[in-house]
Amino acid sequence: MSDPYQIERERMVESQLKKRGIHNSQLLEAFSKVPRHQFLPRNLRSEAYTDGPSPIGEGQTISQPYMTALMTLSAEVAPGDRVLEIGTGSGYQSAILAELGAEVYTIERIPELLEQARETLRQLHYDKIHARLGNGTLGWEEEAPFDIILITAGAPEIPAPLLDQLAIRGRLVIPLEEGYSHVLYVVRRSPKGFHQERGERCTFVPLIGEYGWGRNPRTKWGKLRKDS
Ligand code: SAH
Repeated sequence: MSDPYQIERERMVESQLKKRGIHNSQLLEAFSKVPRHQFLPRNLRSEAYTDGPSPIGEGQTISQPYMTALMTLSAEVAPGDRVLEIGTGSGYQSAILAELGAEVYTIERIPELLEQARETLRQLHYDKIHARLGNGTLGWEEEAPFDIILITAGAPEIPAPLLDQLAIRGRLVIPLEEGYSHVLYVVRRSPKGFHQERGERCTFVPLIGEYGWGRNPRTKWGKLRKDS
């Protein structure tokens, strides 16, 4: 089947990923293959390959392609890895992970977005992705431990349940608030404990729920509970 966006997608891979130093061939192949436009609302499909985040409804966004690539790269995904994603959003990041051979578990808190993402993933035959509704800051206990945990929303701190659900030698990737934006952190677990590395500055929509932000911007959930 011909894809009218194939050329734009190749251009995105060249100018937004390769030129910024991403050379992992499996990753580039996944970005060349997954039809990002199909994860956007119909009226926004023409901007699917531009260099930024795009709205997907409910006040949420699909991350900038470079940011999706950077998070995936930082997690060092290998075939067969069990990956937990917090913040399904459009489902695009899940599809990229599935293309890399990961076994994907993803959690979204907004029912409308979850339904849309499930539908898109079904249409594209990503049948093995497990997606469910819930507060992802609590993790997915029944399926733990995970080799990789990706948090695709900005957090005030690392949710403790997610550290518990990370396998030994596992990687957790999370944008943590620092000043007016976020910084991408990679946390590695070894038999001795956790080791944290600071990465690039970035901007994400907030991670909302217990162990994240309250519904009012800049109020932590725990604080909100104490106040109310
Ligand atoms: N990975 C997505 C981008 C998601 S944007 C993609 O590829 O399109 C972040 C998403 O996190 C939003 O959809 C938001 O609703 C969701 N989110 C925020 N807090 C959450 C929580 N505690 N649990 C699950 N999802 C959450």
